[in-house]
Amino acid sequence: MSDLYPACDPLNLADVLTPAEQAAIRRLRATLETKVQPLLSEYWARDEFPTQIIPELVGLGMMNPAEVVEAGEKPGHLFAGFRTFELARCDTSMATFYTAVAGLFRTTINLGGSPEQAAKWDPLVQTFEMFGVFCLTEPEHGSDIARGLATTATRTGDTWTINGAKRWIGGAGMATTLAIFARDTADGEVKVFLVPQDAPGVTLTKMEGKISLRIMQNFDIALTGVQVSDDTRLANVNSFADVARLLGNTRSIVAWIACGAMAGAYEAAVRYTTERDQFGKKVAHFQLVQEKLSTMLANLTASLAMTVRLAQQEAAGAYADENSAMTKMFTSKKLRETVALAREVAGGNGILLENDVARFFADAEAVYSYEGTHEINSLVVGRSITGKGAFV
Ligand SMILES: Cc1cc2nc3c(=O)[nH]c(=O)nc-3n(C[C@H](O)[C@H](O)[C@H](O)COP(=O)(O)OP(=O)(O)OC[C@H]3O[C@@H](n4cnc5c(N)ncnc54)[C@H](O)[C@@H]3O)c2cc1C
Repeated sequence: MSDLYPACDPLNLADVLTPAEQAAIRRLRATLETKVQPLLSEYWARDEFPTQIIPELVGLGMMNPAEVVEAGEKPGHLFAGFRTFELARCDTSMATFYTAVAGLFRTTINLGGSPEQAAKWDPLVQTFEMFGVFCLTEPEHGSDIARGLATTATRTGDTWTINGAKRWIGGAGMATTLAIFARDTADGEVKVFLVPQDAPGVTLTKMEGKISLRIMQNFDIALTGVQVSDDTRLANVNSFADVARLLGNTRSIVAWIACGAMAGAYEAAVRYTTERDQFGKKVAHFQLVQEKLSTMLANLTASLAMTVRLAQQEAAGAYADENSAMTKMFTSKKLRETVALAREVAGGNGILLENDVARFFADAEAVYSYEGTHEINSLVVGRSITGKGAFV
């Protein structure tokens, strides 16, 4: 087992991190264990985000950590990946919250913006002064957003007027900025605009009744005659193909979330089964329980190996949509199986928030469906295998 993850990384996959990166991850872990973990069950039950921990998390500077800078290094794909893994190992909502800004929004700015726009906004994103969220999905268009996206943007001089609706937008209530994807009424192409969350014509409504990721809040957004200037439009997003390029990147991030949540659920399951006595023995003693723990660890290890290799390839500039889709598809399916086994080995207590596995179990459902459902990601892979698109 590796030094960084002695309980859940038998193949030492975290050894791909430099000593400075590992030190930064340990610093993140210390804050998660002391400041965040104690709040999770209560806030999950309350269906609320513990906003008091945002300054703590932001203050860690995890997008450009001091240890890595002082070592003369630049945090890369693998560091960002294990940062996400560590957050998700603590809690799936925490990882989803942090990566909404550090992953989805930051990727949108850096890949979708011109070099000048990226240089202007990225430092603000790193400190969360610009707290941006990714607003693609709509009430009537989820999987078919590429062809269905109905929010419109109409240009008059240097001003764009946006009308439409977005759904499921994670963290929008805490955001300063909404990256709104809208179809240009002039050329029919999808473009993206940075809209202030409090702009006239923007209305947010919290989605109620979720049984998954209850800590991370999602919002419906109505956009009625919202006006923004042309310099808020990201210059390098001029079609849905450009949006797909962003999604190719962000799907890899979800694979890290799936791996981290598997680690959290697995470790909670080991903890529980080595503490609980039945028939005069710890339940971890029983063969059937050990088979489940073994399956969980194998699922995690295979998923993490795949995700680490994907990140290494991406770091080398070799992006392939089908590979990020395949990794998201595989890891989130293994997550679903793993959290179910974790819940199972905790018996009835596995459905109580206090034993942690219940939270991972419920939250896995969101990971399974967001950033492209299992089916849609499998169709991206299938198109690559066969050369035939089978979406309709
Ligand atoms: C917790 C959570 C957070 C989210 N956060 C964000 C966010 O921050 N920003 C954002 O823009 N979006 C967000 N989303 C939206 C998410 O990306 C969509 O839920 C997802 O793309 C699926 O769309 P849908 O839910 O409308 O399902 P639908 O598209 O309605 O699909 C329903 C079912 O039909 C299947 N299906 C659809 N088309 C096909 C097909 N051609 N072939 C086979 N099966 C098909 C799907 O796989 C699925 O099983 C979030 C979603 C969740 C649940």
